[in-house]
Amino acid sequence: MRNGLKPELIERVLGGKPKYTLDELEKKFPPRDLPEGAFVTRFAPSPTGFMHIGGLYQVLINSKLAQQTGGVFMLRIEDTDTKREVKDAVQIIIDSLDAFGLKYNNVPEYGPYYQSQRKDVYHSVAADLLAKGLAYPCFLTAVEMEEIRARQNAAGFPTGIYSEFARDRDLTEEEIIAHLDKGEVPSIRLYSMGNPEQRIFCKDAVRGSISFPENNEDLVLIKSNDGLPTYHFAHLCDDHFMRTTHVVRGAEWLSSLPLHYQLFRMMGWTPPLYIHTSTLDKLDAETGKQRKLSKRHDPESNVANLLADGWPTNAVLEYLFNIIASGYEEAKLKGAVKSIWDYEFRPKKIPMSGALFDMKKLEWWAKENIATLPVPELVKSVIAWAQKYGDSMHAAQISDVEYLTSVLSIERDNPKRIRKDFITWKQTLSEVAYFWDDLFVANTEFEFNKDALNEFLSTFDINDDKDTWWNKIVAIATKLGVKNGDVAMNLRVALTGRTNTPDLYSIMQVMGDKRVKQRVGSIIK
Ligand code: GLU
Repeated sequence: MRNGLKPELIERVLGGKPKYTLDELEKKFPPRDLPEGAFVTRFAPSPTGFMHIGGLYQVLINSKLAQQTGGVFMLRIEDTDTKREVKDAVQIIIDSLDAFGLKYNNVPEYGPYYQSQRKDVYHSVAADLLAKGLAYPCFLTAVEMEEIRARQNAAGFPTGIYSEFARDRDLTEEEIIAHLDKGEVPSIRLYSMGNPEQRIFCKDAVRGSISFPENNEDLVLIKSNDGLPTYHFAHLCDDHFMRTTHVVRGAEWLSSLPLHYQLFRMMGWTPPLYIHTSTLDKLDAETGKQRKLSKRHDPESNVANLLADGWPTNAVLEYLFNIIASGYEEAKLKGAVKSIWDYEFRPKKIPMSGALFDMKKLEWWAKENIATLPVPELVKSVIAWAQKYGDSMHAAQISDVEYLTSVLSIERDNPKRIRKDFITWKQTLSEVAYFWDDLFVANTEFEFNKDALNEFLSTFDINDDKDTWWNKIVAIATKLGVKNGDVAMNLRVALTGRTNTPDLYSIMQVMGDKRVKQRVGSIIK
């Protein structure tokens, strides 16, 4: 510890009188009134203008932990890096959570939820540390820090501001005043008393107890350029006063854990339970090796792309959830649970490394998901997607809701035989595009048996029931000496342009008399 600063000097150092004492902050943000065992979790993104699928994965873990314990999940915007700020970045985050129906509960009592609006809190805590000699103003300039770094590199020392390199660690009040009188604005640094020869034991709820060398770096708590906190200090203040019980964050923060434990201990506060999650990986198509999903190279890592491509949000959530809770798939298939929200998972099961995000597997979840939707919901989802992301062709497909509904009703009446060829809303529309004359592409490769089509037209009656219709096909085949299937195939390709479709009779019923005759007729011509 060093000598604490007097209140007048703290005021000068911080550029204003601290608004609260620690006691006042404790009262202002009292422990939450929640049932025992309730988790308070948060998603705390820095607004970068991009919502990574890994972010959604974290949101899901956080919101699920809160939901299944009767707790609270909040969204905190970590916008303290004013240099990195991107326009609309926060809206992108909010919209993504919204699109996936992931709700957060930012009750005003513990807000504000933008770190840039919580300066009063950070400065009040910093003032307390300055008064206790646990922090100090540091007047090192960027150039001076660069020199220190160069010296450390040359000597083979770890870089950073610590012990003898921490020039301003023990400045006297007079020296501090002299700097301030020259108009210098300090950063506030931790007065670290850690000794790297000793180890600190930290806890990760999944990894268990991990020991690290103690931290001896005098890390910046409050930055000099804008008076905003660093991530570390904001984490300390916010997760304490927002009464977070569980911090779920990326494994890249694991190495900061000893520092965070040090900060919580210094304050005499109980640290939250930490869960450091694995990155989401993929198998690299070229090397076959597993690697992190990259924001730059993997379009599927961008949640906005998944939405624009029309992946059912529920399927994405179910798939991500199954990564966290591998028993979910079986429970769902057995019908033991209806959705991820009924399945209780254990945080201990969250994978610590190598979590794989595989588009093929997502496809499976999507097909299963769409197959369970009642037709009106399927239609609603497809329309909602097309309105938001579709082009003029999609607009044409959704313009007649009744026709679209009949098209999408094909092979959905028998629960044992529901078609499973729909994957995304976008692909669903393109899969059935042949139902619309403007989108239908006639098959020019297929060698039609025009006699068979001629015969078909001469006996076709849209009012025939399925048996009558089929008997007519059989009769044509017999007459021409071909297989029944050949006649049906000719008809199928003539009507749809494809050799593989759902039930042909149903297709014709939906297309209607005029369209059937016109398509078959145009081939015979
Ligand atoms: N803003 C930090 C990040 O985006 C949050 C880490 C945390 O959840 O504490 O990585």
